[in-house]
Amino acid sequence: MNEGSQKDFTAYCGLCCQDCIPSKKRLFELIRELSFLASELHLDSYAELKTPNNPIFANYAIFESMLSELAWLECAAPCRLGGGKTECGIRDCAIARGYEGCWECAEMKECKRLMPLRAFHGRTIDENLDAIKECGIDDWSPKKGNHYPWS
Ligand code: SF4
Ligand code: SF4
Repeated sequence: MNEGSQKDFTAYCGLCCQDCIPSKKRLFELIRELSFLASELHLDSYAELKTPNNPIFANYAIFESMLSELAWLECAAPCRLGGGKTECGIRDCAIARGYEGCWECAEMKECKRLMPLRAFHGRTIDENLDAIKECGIDDWSPKKGNHYPWS
């Protein structure tokens, strides 16, 4: 998910789709490649053989489940171009009100729909929305906040 305008990557909630882990194409290519190779090599059977000498291999099924769960996270397109969550109350609400995003909404600061995102992304949600409101959807990127607490 690398080509497109700043607007294309600006989600209704004020997040930048390019910064989202589910948008990292290379990550999902590697997950698919690893899953394929693990199956081809019968790594599950190999882990079973290894388990008596190293109990960590007994967790192989958890590793497989984790790969499969991670694979489901992939988001092939930005939220604005048909990607994002299948159902999103924020996106539906903004579109229903005829907004390009929540930054156009007078209820933005008190909006309960944005609360789960604030819990996950912290102040970035409000700071991004303020930045888009101030600079416009095409030019807000230099003021973008950290997408995740660790980034
Ligand atoms: S699906 Fe909803 S929460 Fe996710 S990026 Fe789009 S507007 Fe934001
Ligand atoms: S009420 Fe306003 S801020 Fe809340 S989701 Fe709808 S458009 Fe966004």
